Amino acid sequence: MDCVFCKIIANEIPSVKVYEDDHILAFLDINPIEKGHVLLIPKKHWESLAAVPVADSADVAVLEELTYMSHVVSKAVTRTFANGANLLQATGKCAGQTVFHLHFHVIPRYDDGSTPPSFESGHGAYSSNEERDAYAEKLRKEISKVLSEEAII
Ligand code: 5GP
Ligand code: ZN
Repeated sequence: MDCVFCKIIANEIPSVKVYEDDHILAFLDINPIEKGHVLLIPKKHWESLAAVPVADSADVAVLEELTYMSHVVSKAVTRTFANGANLLQATGKCAGQTVFHLHFHVIPRYDDGSTPPSFESGHGAYSSNEERDAYAEKLRKEISKVLSEEAII
């Protein structure tokens, strides 16, 4: 299947991962709206949120985990480098969806006077790969801290 996110899951193309388990992957957006912008995806290829089949309780559990992880990532970003965050999910081309594999965006927000918040891709471009990797490392540490504190999964 010609899906960029399936290729990321299969390690066929590189990504900067911040969390992974059997069902879910979180990695940095390549063209961040703000620094620390994370994409959360299920490992199963579902085209969008509306397309998730809910007949199987295992699929519902993945949806629940995606929602829970959006909480964990939002908590991690606001405990480390950000002042707030947006959760964004686009279903359909008219909603701005460009990659047709379900994903939740967690977009960190900063008290830097830029209101209303930008939704422009690349608005939060990193100045170097080292800067990007430093954000990823902070996220990895804080996500695992939140998970061990909450001990839900
Ligand atoms: P959408 O517009 O579908 O809601 O969001 C797709 C997101 O995927 C965009 O923010 C875009 O920057 C990101 N993206 C597209 N291709 C890649 C890629 O190869 N690697 C990463 N890390 N992000 C990607
Ligand atoms: Zn896919």
